[in-house]
Amino acid sequence: MKFLLLLAFFLMLFFYYKIYKKRKLNRKEKIRITEMVKDEVCGVYLPKEEALKVEIEDKVYYFCSQECKDAFLKGRSERA
Ligand SMILES: [Zn+2]
Repeated sequence: MKFLLLLAFFLMLFFYYKIYKKRKLNRKEKIRITEMVKDEVCGVYLPKEEALKVEIEDKVYYFCSQECKDAFLKGRSERA
C-alpha cells in the first residue's frame, strides 16, 4: 500500500514536470513571435502589436505614435 502511494506521488511529480516544461516552451515561443518593426519617421523600433499601422499601396508602414503617423502622411502628400 505504501508503495502504491509512493508511485502515485512520483506520477504526479512527473505530470507536473511535463506541464511545467510545456508552459516554459510556450513562453519562449511568444517571445520569438514578437516581431519588431521600424517607425519610418523617427527610426525607433517597437513591437509590432504596439505599433500604429498604415497600409498604402500594399505596403505596410508602422509608427510609434499618432504624431509620427501624421508626419509621415503629411510628408507623403507634400511629395505627391
Ligand atoms: Zn515615431
